[in-house]
Parts: sequence; structure tokens; C-alpha cells
Amino acid sequence: MQAIIDELARQAEADLAQVTSKETLASFWQKYLSKNGQVPALMKNLRTVDAAERPAMGKAINELKQKVQADYDAAAVRVNQAELAARNAAETVDITLPAKTRPTGGLHPLTLVRNQIIDAFAGMGFEIYEGPEIEDDDHCFTRLNVPKDHPARDMQDTFYLSDELLLRTQTSTGQIRTMDAERPPIKVLVPGRVFRSDSDATHSPMFHQMEGLVVDKGINLCDLQGMLDVFVQKLFGSEVRTRLRPSYFPFTEPSVEVDVSCFECHGKGCSLCKHTGWIEILGGGVVNQKVLRNCNIDPEVYSGIAFGIGIERIAMLKYGINNIGLMFENDLRFLGQFHE
Ligand SMILES: [Zn+2]
Repeated sequence: MQAIIDELARQAEADLAQVTSKETLASFWQKYLSKNGQVPALMKNLRTVDAAERPAMGKAINELKQKVQADYDAAAVRVNQAELAARNAAETVDITLPAKTRPTGGLHPLTLVRNQIIDAFAGMGFEIYEGPEIEDDDHCFTRLNVPKDHPARDMQDTFYLSDELLLRTQTSTGQIRTMDAERPPIKVLVPGRVFRSDSDATHSPMFHQMEGLVVDKGINLCDLQGMLDVFVQKLFGSEVRTRLRPSYFPFTEPSVEVDVSCFECHGKGCSLCKHTGWIEILGGGVVNQKVLRNCNIDPEVYSGIAFGIGIERIAMLKYGINNIGLMFENDLRFLGQFHE
């Protein structure tokens, strides 16, 4: 029996020396250590050994089993390391090959400009409010001092959904909604889509506005110009200035058109500014006292300023886009030019 054990130990050692891969390792395990392998088979043969010799033989078989198992474990580690090393060697990266690049996405020019406007005003403490796109006549016109049959209603070609409901023509609706919801001091920006029945190279039936509203004690036109100066300098560069011209809007009194000094020619005159040195960028004014009263804010105590920025107009000026339709056609050759 001892001779058989010795022979098996020698054979196992010789076989193990041949193990170089996972496959040969597995067949080694199958041959010697599995349930039907040669080492467990020795255990079964123990029954045929003389009772006197049995304990010594059992011990010898157990020692063999432990040695073969330990050798097998060591071989498994060796095989794994060798395979890993081989794979690493095979997968060496050639850093001189040109990289595989994927096209990266970017923000839409309107989103870029919207974010820039919000950044400029957020720095001055403005909060963001977004109102509904389907509005009633009351919020869009009547309480903004544009009663029914008022000629100012002709200034905006409205999409009506019913007698009372319409697609908002201006984000000024946000003025009424914030003044209904909050008491002064109020400082909000209202970005959003607006709708008018109008379409040409500079008008789209759907476009974007950003309304600004400040209501507090002692607010006046100087505050408006000061804030707009900060805004235009953030967007168009630190040299630009603003200029206010008298205008008319029903919801502000006095009302102004705001011009920015031409950032292309710095006031010398060019085609962008139509050789005037100034570019009209937005409208605003001091909130009409009637509008404050319509929102139960006492105009004897509080005053306000409001302004409305056309986001497409700012984007077209800033990026030199001459047709508003380009911004809604989803042409990647156009949109791909606005990475920041
Ligand atoms: Zn110019």
C-alpha cells in the first residue's frame, strides 16, 4: 500500500509540473482530487488493508491528500498570474494611434443666452419664477393695464384658445403672478416661451422672453438703468453703455426703450448698429401705479421697475444670426457652432 501511495505522489508531482493553463489545471484536479479522483480512491481501498496497518496507512493517505491539494492551490495561483500577464502584454495600448473621438453635445444658443442673462441678474439677487404658457385674459392684459378694446391689444397678435384663455403673448404675465403670490420686496426674473401670430426673418410665432420685476420702497428709473448696465456689460463686454429713450407700454409709466452702445464698432457706426452707434435691445420702465393697485400693492408706499428682454434678439445680436428661423430648425451644422 505504501508503495502505491509513493507512486501516486511521484506521478502527481510529475503531472503538476506539466500544468501551464486553466485547462490542464482542471484536468489535474479531475484526475487526482475530484470525488472520483485517484486520491479519494486510495481512501476507499483502505478497507482492504490489514486492520493493524490501517491507521498508519490512513495517516499517509491524508498527508498525500493535503500535499497534492497544497501543490494544486499553488499551481492555480501561478496559472492565474501567468494568464493575467499574458493578457496585459497582448493588450498593450499604442499611444501613437489616432484617438477615437465621439461628437460632443452642446447647449442650444438660446439656452446659452438664457443662462447668461440669468447669471447676470442672479448676481444682483434676482430669483426665477416660471409661469404658465396658457394664460387668461386677466393676467395677460387686463390687470397689466390693457383693458378690453384698448388699442394696445392690437400691438400683439394673440392666439386665443377661447374667449378667456390664450397663449401668453409676453412674460409680463409673471409680474401679476408674482405680485399676487409675494409681498415686496420682490426681485424676480420670469423666463419663458411666448406666442404671437407673427412670422418673418426676425419674428417667430413662438419665441422666448425674460421679464424682470423689482418692487420695493424707493425704486426708480435709475435702478433700472444701473441693473441693465451690469447686465449688458456681462453679456457684451465691459465697455458698453446703455441709453434710455422715451417709449410707451401700458404697464409702465414712464416707459423706455433701452439701447446698448454698439459692441461691434464701439460707437463709430457700422451695419449692425445701422450707423447710429446704438442697438435697441429691450423695453422697460417704472411699473404703472395702476398695475401695482391691481395687485393690491400700495403705490404710495412701493414703486417698481420692469423690463422685458427678447432672448432670440439678444442671441441674434451676440452671435450675428440674421434669421430667427435658424434657431428652430435643429440643423446641427448651425447649432454645432455654439460650443462654449
Ligand atoms: Zn456699430
